[in-house]
Amino acid sequence: MSVKQIVMYPNTILEEKCTPVTVFDKKLVRLLNDMYDTMIEFDGVGLAAPQIGLNKRIAIVDIEDEHGTIEMINPEVIETSGEQTDPEGCLSFPGIYGDVTRPSFVKIKAFNRKGKPYEFAAEGFLARAILHEIDHLDGILFTTKVSRYIEAEELERLDEE
Ligand SMILES: [Zn+2]
Repeated sequence: MSVKQIVMYPNTILEEKCTPVTVFDKKLVRLLNDMYDTMIEFDGVGLAAPQIGLNKRIAIVDIEDEHGTIEMINPEVIETSGEQTDPEGCLSFPGIYGDVTRPSFVKIKAFNRKGKPYEFAAEGFLARAILHEIDHLDGILFTTKVSRYIEAEELERLDEE
């Protein structure tokens, strides 16, 4: 396992549609493990393959709740409902935060590292993180959805509340 370098904006790979995974092998397992190490190293709650320079439909999310790490391979959003507006950030945009409106509930289907399909439903911050990462796989960056940018100082105040 190893920590990869994060691709910073601007970089064309961050704005491309990623290609589906077709082979579920040891290389994929290694990649998922590396993505986990990288996400933890840089203190993120999610990471998508293009953020480490790979044009593949693979993303992980871990908001340190009871769900642990959610590994999404070829994920698809099958249902959304509600609406939430909250500050969001991205490892590819260090120091940039902004309010983003997203559904408050999401249901996805995806494959796990063994190639087994599964469905998963989430709400609140976990739904936000999942939708942010799936956006990455379509080359959609959170900055295209920001309604208001937030200064770091303001974010610290919000954190303390
Ligand atoms: Zn991101």
